[in-house]
Amino acid sequence: MAYAKKTWSLFYERFIRLFIMDEKEKAKQILKILNKIYPKTTIPLKHRNTFTLLVSVLLSAQCTDINVNNVTKDIYRKYNKPKDFIKLGRKRIEKLIKKIGIFRIKAKSIYLLSKQLLEKHKGKVPKTFEDLEKLPGVGHKTASVVMSQGFGFPAFAVDTHIHRLAQRWGLTNGKSVIQTEKDLKRIFPKKSWSKLHLQIIYYGREYCKARECYGLTCKICSTCYPNRNKPIKTEKA
Ligand code: SF4
Repeated sequence: MAYAKKTWSLFYERFIRLFIMDEKEKAKQILKILNKIYPKTTIPLKHRNTFTLLVSVLLSAQCTDINVNNVTKDIYRKYNKPKDFIKLGRKRIEKLIKKIGIFRIKAKSIYLLSKQLLEKHKGKVPKTFEDLEKLPGVGHKTASVVMSQGFGFPAFAVDTHIHRLAQRWGLTNGKSVIQTEKDLKRIFPKKSWSKLHLQIIYYGREYCKARECYGLTCKICSTCYPNRNKPIKTEKA
């Protein structure tokens, strides 16, 4: 009797997964898989304090974290406060970060945001989205990363990679990054957001790359879409 009950419950679970897995159920499965693969998440951008985290996130736009870390490791040893960057001035900041894409624009933002931090926030990084997003070069994604990784506030930073994975996993209609953030926040528990942001990034780098889809073997999709019989076509995020 107990055996029959167990078999029925396994069959039922499988049936649910095969035919009526809704987005909440998918989210649950995805969380389970990601927690298993990435039980611990370290912040990929090396930094010394919240200010250098902010600078690194700003530098990472259209640039790999490895490249940012290679460039900043020597800079942060000597310069790691807003006043240091004010003293350096824009031209010298440009020279220091010239191996990073769009370095002139980024140098200007770093200089101006350092100035604003000193003038309006006593040299400290503010702890609200509103104030962060008023800083030069800081958009909602950068503010979200600083709020979650710098201050431990539950935030869900959605970049183009997370946007791509959320679309491929059927968690959003993929209309915009803003919509994706809303959808992910709705289906994942708040306490998971900050860690999940990093876990999805890690999974994307390892298994779900922009140009490749391992559709038939990948753990997340083979769990959420067991009937899929070919890799999905990659949509532009
Ligand atoms: S099967 Fe394709 S879309 Fe799904 S997680 Fe793997 S690489 Fe990404």
